[in-house]
Amino acid sequence: MNANTLFGKALGLGSGWKVVNSEMDVEGRHLSLWLDFEAGSRFECSKCNEWRAVHDTVEKKWRHLNFWQHETTLIARVPRTKCEKDGVLVADVPWARNGSGFTLMMEAMILLLCQQMPVSDAAKHLGEHDTRLWRVLDHYVSEAHEAKDWSKITQIMVDETSAQRGHRYVTNVLDAETKDLLLMVEGRGAEAIAAFASEMPKHGATPQQITEVIMDMSGPFMSGAKTAFPKARIVFDHFHIMKLAGTALDDVRKELRAAGADLSGGLWALRGNQWTRTEEQLKLRNKHCKTYPQLGRAMALRECLQDVLSDKNRESLKWWINWAAHSRLEPFKKLGRTLKSHFEGVFAFMETRLTNAAMEAINGVIQLSKRAARGFRNIKYFRIAAYLKVGGLKIAVPHVLPI
Ligand SMILES: [Zn+2]
Repeated sequence: MNANTLFGKALGLGSGWKVVNSEMDVEGRHLSLWLDFEAGSRFECSKCNEWRAVHDTVEKKWRHLNFWQHETTLIARVPRTKCEKDGVLVADVPWARNGSGFTLMMEAMILLLCQQMPVSDAAKHLGEHDTRLWRVLDHYVSEAHEAKDWSKITQIMVDETSAQRGHRYVTNVLDAETKDLLLMVEGRGAEAIAAFASEMPKHGATPQQITEVIMDMSGPFMSGAKTAFPKARIVFDHFHIMKLAGTALDDVRKELRAAGADLSGGLWALRGNQWTRTEEQLKLRNKHCKTYPQLGRAMALRECLQDVLSDKNRESLKWWINWAAHSRLEPFKKLGRTLKSHFEGVFAFMETRLTNAAMEAINGVIQLSKRAARGFRNIKYFRIAAYLKVGGLKIAVPHVLPI
């Protein structure tokens, strides 16, 4: 068996194609393989799939997997078919997608690597410019994303995150059940929600099927969700509510300090739940609360809100709002008013226990992949990386054998 036949077998070339020449540059660690088709072969027109005669050929090159650390290039005269209906078209070759500069096996390798490491690292590892890798990812990720079925989705989470340094935002929409990232839309608020709703029919879904939308208490998201999802109940995220309560408590502490109260060491003693503080912090907490009754009241309000939210009782929530209104603590009076005007959404959380917790985790993954890629040049890359990592997509990795 000569070298060309051997390479042909290693490539898994089927009938019709053969390796006609091979050149190994040992110093440059490069292997070039020239492929050609049998004289007189006919090829399918890439549009209508009818067998057609060869009109002429064009030379094309593809980067292939390394042969023993030798960067390998396939070079072939690719036939152009002439079809009465479709005219002259480049024929498909069995080892590569039309228009790609990589073989299918190489693309499979790129997909596998990029799921394990940042694209810039994969590019370095393969000795390629990352733009070429992004192009491959874009093709497979977009294809899998378009094919994703949304018909069973009833509960979604929405949240915004910064996409780039500066003030560009993207809105993420997640399936609350599977935690898959469904859509990343540029922008925020009502417009972003509307963009998701209009995307639904392409995925076999309709806005009417959405029964719950989980979000923080952002006005634009609320109005957007009410318009886009007429049958949906808005659910306010519990963590967001408790964060507001934490801020109210902090404001009370700051006001006291500004008025001359000695609250040294109190910041961490006051924040967080009882069970997350040390014994010393709890002692300090009790001391401060005794000395400054306003602080004691603020602490009680915050802890009590935690209890109220863990129950399904409408009356307790009303009772808390009433207490806050009479607390003589401006930050809690304000929080009480906020909860009153968002009552149904807060109560919806108490009933459903749905939270945006998964969103936080996903934002973490997204921010991490953003940093790892050392700054995305555009939002398109950011979106591809996020779909690849947390989109729950079924990516059709090319069949490795035979090519
Ligand atoms: Zn045709």
